[in-house]
Amino acid sequence: MRIQLLPSTFDAQGVANLEQRLTCFLIDDCVAVDAGSIAIALTNEQRSKVKDIIVTHPHMDHVASLPIFIDDLYPSLQQPMRVHATQEVIQLLERDVFNWNVYPRFSDLKNDYGPVMQYVPIPIGEPFKVAHLNVVAVPVNHIVPTVGLVVSDGQSSVAFSSDTAETEEFWKILNKMKGLDALLIEASFPDRMAKLAEVSRHFTPASLGQELKKLNHNGMDIMAVHLKATYRDEIVAQLDALNIPKLSVMEPGRIYEW
Ligand SMILES: [Zn+2]
Ligand SMILES: [Zn+2]
Repeated sequence: MRIQLLPSTFDAQGVANLEQRLTCFLIDDCVAVDAGSIAIALTNEQRSKVKDIIVTHPHMDHVASLPIFIDDLYPSLQQPMRVHATQEVIQLLERDVFNWNVYPRFSDLKNDYGPVMQYVPIPIGEPFKVAHLNVVAVPVNHIVPTVGLVVSDGQSSVAFSSDTAETEEFWKILNKMKGLDALLIEASFPDRMAKLAEVSRHFTPASLGQELKKLNHNGMDIMAVHLKATYRDEIVAQLDALNIPKLSVMEPGRIYEW
């Protein structure tokens, strides 16, 4: 499985910045997990291949450019863009984003080929298919309804925590799995901001270090993501100091293969 954390911004030469402001992972060039930077960072080839987007929760950094992405493709979509999310998240997207005020309700609109956007409700705790991938969604502990994901392509399996603080069910599912290859987990705030991390339901390096004790570590890669851009260097240093084997910070723009 090829996974790219899409860059959020680029420098004047077009080189991706390391700071992550928006969240969007691209799997095998065709399935997106969240859509923060989806309209900004895809190549033209990738843009033509993405047909499925899984939205873990409706926070702006995860959906910021989803409306623009569908708008850009509006006249050319020959099949609807499928947005996979829990029923709760679909309702929030309809109420707060695609509400005719912030942006058009694309799920009600058609182009010359037919509907342009289709919601696909995802079950909780039950496997479902997205393109060639098998996916399981697990509720995690964030301030709005949010799911973590375990994604498998038959060869390899990767878990995405999405945004979360201390949680239980996610680890139960991961610990039951044979052969998990990578865990992409959030580390949002530096340790000195533990209070803010707690109320906004995110990890700091210290709380992430505690949390990872719940994981029966089998040698998988652990990639820290969602580091708040303003505090990136501080968070990176604190993650390094944890000395957890195979823990590293995921680089936007780089393609990882598992
Ligand atoms: Zn969030
Ligand atoms: Zn977020």
